[in-house]
Amino acid sequence: MNKEYKLAIVGLGGMGNWHRETIERIENLSVCGSFDIKESRQEFARSHGLRTYGSLDEVLADPEVDIVLCSTPNDCHHDIVVKALRAGKNVVCEKPAAVCVAELEDMIRVANETGKLFVVHQNRRWDEDYLTVRKIIENKSLGEVFRIESRVHGSRGIPGDWRQEKEHGGGMILDWGVHLLDQMLMMLPGKIRKVYATVSHVTNEVVDDGFTAELTFDSGIVALVEVGTSNFINLPRWYVLGRDGTAVVEWGCKGRMVCVTDWSAKDAVPIRTAAGLTKTMAPRTDDTIRELPLPEVHSDIRDFYRNVMDTISGKAEIKVKHCEVLRVFKLMEAIAASAENGVCVNFE
Ligand code: NAD
Repeated sequence: MNKEYKLAIVGLGGMGNWHRETIERIENLSVCGSFDIKESRQEFARSHGLRTYGSLDEVLADPEVDIVLCSTPNDCHHDIVVKALRAGKNVVCEKPAAVCVAELEDMIRVANETGKLFVVHQNRRWDEDYLTVRKIIENKSLGEVFRIESRVHGSRGIPGDWRQEKEHGGGMILDWGVHLLDQMLMMLPGKIRKVYATVSHVTNEVVDDGFTAELTFDSGIVALVEVGTSNFINLPRWYVLGRDGTAVVEWGCKGRMVCVTDWSAKDAVPIRTAAGLTKTMAPRTDDTIRELPLPEVHSDIRDFYRNVMDTISGKAEIKVKHCEVLRVFKLMEAIAASAENGVCVNFE
């Protein structure tokens, strides 16, 4: 019979509650209680039938707790994770795992010392739009891919909470960058040669409210990663360019893929505009291209926790690895350095 794992939530805000709801649908795992420094969130926990702990120490002293979930603001992750590991608990930590490389390295060191599981919730590896793009590339549907653009755009600025404040680990590089960069590095495994980035401060002076980073891989592929919070018209979530075709993939996996069928028909009919004539930009005619359906993918975010439990019981290897998370952190610091100094940074 499979062991029943008990998880305690530290920080029962928006995301902590997402975990509570998701875990309700996972076999062999249950939430045994939570702790939040806000009384209103303790009250919320009790109203949902959860036991509340009076402090982090109380959580860690409970022998029933197998796994501690840390879903507090980013600046608290390091101390909570280190303390929980040292208390002999396995730890799931929300992204971004820390606020800088040095903190993350320390957390990994303590995890290695204690032999306990420390895993970061890089949940967007299970996003179906991302998995669709991965499949397009694996299937070589567009021929040799030379550029991938990954964007998320909103128009509300940074939410009016701790995400606006530097001391809490705010800003969009840490908040959304960590997801998009993680996806890109999982998809394109080669080394990154150069990084060039700019950040925006449209609605916030102290932390970045958006950024654009161009990563040039050793293979020659260029990846553009962009987060915007002042975009009233969104660009596509994914724009993928191959030698033989182009794909657009949106949230929810809607999109298009257009591929060439006849390279020989090179002569385009020029198009005229009021001020001139162009052959280069003339649209292709239907007889030289075809539209392909996007590949179908299916994912289940509950597999994140199934992998956590299988790893603890020695049946599997953890999917989100320390070296992968650390590489993304080093890249985020390179992005910040490139933007600050207005230069292209050599990366690996
Ligand atoms: P939130 O502000 O809604 O919730 C944070 C909670 O932590 C609050 O209730 C706060 O009172 C509590 N808290 C603060 N310090 C604490 C401490 N020392 N001990 C116990 N509780 C404490 O924030 P959120 O949006 O839920 O974000 C929490 C974490 O989850 C962040 O790291 C964020 O980046 C991450 N997050 C991840 C995703 C994802 O898709 N993986 C999505 C949203 C947020």
